[in-house]
Amino acid sequence: MDNCIFCKIIKGEIPSKDVYEDEIVKVFLDVNPVANGHMLVVPKKHVTDFTELDDETAKHLNQIAKRMLNGLNATLKPQGVRLCVNYGMYQEVKHYHLHIIPGYEPEQPIKDINEVYEEMSK
Ligand code: AMP
Ligand code: ZN
Repeated sequence: MDNCIFCKIIKGEIPSKDVYEDEIVKVFLDVNPVANGHMLVVPKKHVTDFTELDDETAKHLNQIAKRMLNGLNATLKPQGVRLCVNYGMYQEVKHYHLHIIPGYEPEQPIKDINEVYEEMSK
C-alpha cells in the first residue's frame, strides 16, 4: 500500500535493521524498542490486521517466530520472550505485525539499536 510505512520498509524505501527475510516475511528491529532485541515479524503482503491475515501466512509467521526465538537464545540470551499482536486502538501501524519482545533478568537498560543489532549478528 502506498502510504504504509511497513510496505515502504519491505520495498527498501525506508531503511531497517533486518534480522530475517524470505519471500513471505520480513523481520526487522523495532525502531523504538521496549527491550533490547525487540523485533517485528511482518508479512510482505499488506494486510491491515490479524483479522485479515490468512492462515497459511500466519502459520509461516509462527514458524519464523520460533526461528527468531532460537536466534535470540543464541545471541542476546533473554530469560523470556513476549509475543504480542496489537489491534484496533492498540495498533499504531495498520500493517499486520507480530512483536517479539525479549525479557531480561535483571532488567537491561535499552541500548542503542546499532549496538544490539551488532550483538545479534555475532
Ligand atoms: P503497533 O502498531 O502499536 O503494534 O506498533 C508499531 C511498532 O512499529 C512500534 O513499536 C514502533 O516503534 C514500530 N515502528 C514504527 N516505525 C518503524 C520503523 N520505521 N522501523 C521499525 N519499527 C517501526
Ligand atoms: Zn503495508
